[in-house]
Order: sequence, then structure tokens, then C-alpha cells
Amino acid sequence: MTNGPVFVTRATLPPFEEYVDMIRPLWESAWITNMGDLHGRLIGELQGYLGVPRVSLFTNGHLALELGLQAFGITGEVITSPFTFASTTHAIVRNGLEPVFCDIRADDYTLDAAHLESLITPRTTAIVPVHVYGTPCDVVGIQEVADRHGLKVIYDAAHAFGVRLGGVGIGNFGDASMFSFHATKVFNTIEGGCLTFVNGDLEKDLYHLKNFGIVSEDVVAAVGSNAKMNEFQAAMGLCNLHYLAESRATRGALEARYRHHLSGVPGLSFLPERADVEGNHAYLPVAVDPRAFGATRDEVVAHLKAEGIHPRKYFYPIVSAFDCYSGRFDPAATPVALASSLRVMTLPLHPELSPDTVDVICGLVLRAGRRTS
Ligand SMILES: *Cc1c(COP(=O)(O)O)cnc(C)c1O
Repeated sequence: MTNGPVFVTRATLPPFEEYVDMIRPLWESAWITNMGDLHGRLIGELQGYLGVPRVSLFTNGHLALELGLQAFGITGEVITSPFTFASTTHAIVRNGLEPVFCDIRADDYTLDAAHLESLITPRTTAIVPVHVYGTPCDVVGIQEVADRHGLKVIYDAAHAFGVRLGGVGIGNFGDASMFSFHATKVFNTIEGGCLTFVNGDLEKDLYHLKNFGIVSEDVVAAVGSNAKMNEFQAAMGLCNLHYLAESRATRGALEARYRHHLSGVPGLSFLPERADVEGNHAYLPVAVDPRAFGATRDEVVAHLKAEGIHPRKYFYPIVSAFDCYSGRFDPAATPVALASSLRVMTLPLHPELSPDTVDVICGLVLRAGRRTS
């Protein structure tokens, strides 16, 4: 039916020869990390692609966020979403900060700005919203609350590479945004990530923080980490950038095919399509309402897995229910996030996926509904 197992995503690789040509000069220079030539070139390309004034590269997205929070000198409590990948909350906690979970909107799973104000205390200093699945948050509503209370806004934009809102690059909102270039994301540097930001002062701080806080041979000014992007990563990024427009179009066509087969089916819901958003088609989350559909999300996932199709239960469990945070938070305090974590699955979506496989997957999803109804 399909050739081997189908996973939710697949790393995109450039033509082998193109990558080899890109890394060949490294054997001449032997400058393979610590802000080399390719590192510098990638910054320039990303400023253009993302439409942002400043980009700082990191060895992965998680450390970009963790060190971004450190660079801003965030203290006390940070309001964030529990409906996300572990990294978002871990970055807050690993900075010695207290995460405070805000509920999400039922239709697009992003932070519900209407709940923000009630969570603010004298110790609150920042908001870390997530453009989950690449959907832009309510950037205006969030900024209004932040401005009223003097809070920093640092977006987890790990999913939102290349997304534009009203024609503006998504990295221009808030004080900073973190993008992930992990192998599983729409754009990869094998592992990698960046922080985009508006305040130029941050540039030096980030540069030092990703290199142990070393300012000069004799001066170590901060307790930094090691989070530099190396030249082999930057080379992969420079190559992959050439194919982004093409892969984005392919993803968009596959998403349209899924929607054609499945939207309008009682009990299945897709993200809203928005005229003001230029999306990246990174993920295909579908919410399953068991009563209307005739099967639970978990039953649909099990049915697909038995046929070699591997969707993911992104994001289950929500972060506030993680074992490592046991006893610290009440998952029921964010009821929409909790309910979404039981209903949403992300279906396979990547440029290598064939339209025929999408048809097969949709057929299996529909059968899972009828099977148990
Ligand atoms: C992937 C991801 C991260 C972490 O990025 P890495 O590059 O893997 O370190 C953070 N937040 C979210 C929402 C992610 O999906």
C-alpha cells in the first residue's frame, strides 16, 4: 500500500554534491566552528528570508531560547503555554524562572491573550508565547498586555520559519523570536536555531553567552554556555535555503489534498485558514471529536500505526503534566490545552510524501471513524 513506514516528517537534504562543494573550502581554512565564513553568510541570507534586522545563530533552537531569556535578564515568573514541546518550558525552568501556564484558544491552540492579565503578579517579567504549528499568536493582544505591564515578549517561533503575518516576517513581533533548524523542522541545519530581535544591544550579549561568556582573552563577563553553530551546520542551511520555496509549495499542495478529503467530515477539525497569514505548512494538526467522529484520537492513531502510518500526538501530554514537573502544576488549570492534548494528532506532512500516500492516509482515517461507530 505504501513503501515502508510513513513518519510524520522527514529531514530534507540538498543534493549531495552541492553540500560537498559548500564544505570543500573548510579543508583549506580549517576554520570549522566559532563564527566562520559560512556562519556569517547564513546570517545574511536569513535576515533576507525572514525579513528581520538581526539574527544570532545557535547550535540548536533550545539553547537560543534559553540564552535569549538569560540575555534579557528575565527574573521571577514567566507566562507561557503548556501546549508545546518540552523545550519551551525547560528553557524557562533551566534559567531558574517559574513558568506560569496560560490557557490556549480552542481553534488555533495559541496563547489566549484574554487570560493573560489574571496571571500577572508583581514577579511577572516576561511572556513566552508559542506560534504552535506555525500559526501566528495574537501578537497584538499579547503586546498590549505586555506594554501595559512592562513585560518582555519572547516568542517560541520554532515552528514558524518563513511565516508572514500581514506581509511582515513573524520574527519582527515581540522583543525576540526563536526559530529551530532541527532536522525535523521545515528548514534544517541538521541541528540549529536562531534568535531574531530588534534591540541591537542584545547582539553582543548573545555572541558572548553562546561562547561561555568570553568577551576577550582576559575577560569572562558572564556565565555563558556553549551554543555556537558550526560551519557544517551553516553549510547545510545555505544549501537547504535554495529548495525552500519548492518544498513549501509541495507541502501546501499536500495540505490542500488532506483538507479536500477530510475537511467537512463530522468530528474532524483543521486549523482555520487565514487570509492575513502566509503559512509554512509545517504541520497538519487534526482534532478528533470522538462523539461526532465515532472514534477517539488514540483509536485513530492506533489504527494508522497498525498500517505503518505514524502520526504524532503533538502535544500530549501537556507540559504541566510531565513527570519531571509532577506536583508543581495543575494540568486542569488550562482546560482547553488539556482537552486539545487528548484530541489533536499531527498527520504526516513533508515534501517527500506522495499525493497517493495522502489519499491512503485519509482513507484509513475515515475507516477508523466508521470502524468504531
Ligand atoms: C523543535 C522545538 C524546539 C527546540 O528546538 P531545537 O532546535 O530542537 O532545540 C522548541 N520549541 C518547539 C515548539 C519546538 O518544536
